[in-house]
Amino acid sequence: MGNSLRPAGFGTVRAMPASKHSGKALRLGIARNREGPSAMKEGGTNPDSSSPASAALPQTVLEARSVQKSYSTGEKELPVLVDASLKLRRGEMVAIVAPSGAGKSTLLHVLAALDTPTSGGVYFDSKAIETNQDTAIADFRNRAVGFLWQRHQLLPDFTAAENVAMPLLLRGADFASALQTARKWLAEVGLEGRADHRAGELSGGEQQRVAIARALVTGPRVLLADEPTGDLDEQNAWAVFDLVQRLHRAHKLTSLIATHNLALAARCDRVLGLERGVVVTRTAQAGASGTLGGEAS
Ligand code: ADP
Repeated sequence: MGNSLRPAGFGTVRAMPASKHSGKALRLGIARNREGPSAMKEGGTNPDSSSPASAALPQTVLEARSVQKSYSTGEKELPVLVDASLKLRRGEMVAIVAPSGAGKSTLLHVLAALDTPTSGGVYFDSKAIETNQDTAIADFRNRAVGFLWQRHQLLPDFTAAENVAMPLLLRGADFASALQTARKWLAEVGLEGRADHRAGELSGGEQQRVAIARALVTGPRVLLADEPTGDLDEQNAWAVFDLVQRLHRAHKLTSLIATHNLALAARCDRVLGLERGVVVTRTAQAGASGTLGGEAS
């Protein structure tokens, strides 16, 4: 497994450091602390409105409440999300770290309304996303959330600018203005010189930067990223992560990033995990670096 680490909860948990990390690579573990097991589960209480201490917390932008998601495979039901709750507060950048197959993509798809939960709900600005109303869902997907896939999903025969313009064209923008906005976004991700190159001709890192521009071109408030650096070498992974973090801050996004990379996760404001279909809080721990074992999904 090389420098890969097994996730805590499946391995060792170290004591939390008293101070914040400083450039040192970090190891992440499940928070099994003095508050006991109930403190581990994410989103179970509602601290947004109840206590004076929590009154200062930024507003919750996107929330999953007791989401359950099972897949039917033949006669069997595969429970993936059992009771998944989380809150993303305005402006925070949250990582979710869990082994392959734990349900990260499933959770992100449900949060983006790309898939429907078996039970439970997703709330945007405290309003339930009505999964049975096509126009509301299309609007939510188009305007509220930008989705970044691990394997960029670009159309290889279209230019970088055309790929970035696509979500605007799907929203009914005219071609010239969509392309103009796309070029502006390509400049933001440092690819103005590649706007007219076909996506298939770009390097992996460049393709992922085009995908970032495409995820943000509609001006969403939330960015959901599913292993955005999983297909990249270490240098490109850090560069792409730096870019995501810079854009997150510049555009005041609220972001949730699924990753195997513990060092990258430790650069986020909070780190969550997924254990047996439940979202848990993880803590950053100093002393080691690496990625979670298993295939990136
Ligand atoms: P992760 O992103 O953490 O790797 P996924 O959410 O992709 O996990 O998958 C979680 C589990 O659900 C896996 O066992 C996977 O095989 C299964 N799964 C995902 N999508 C489907 C589907 N459409 N039908 C059946 N099983 C699925």
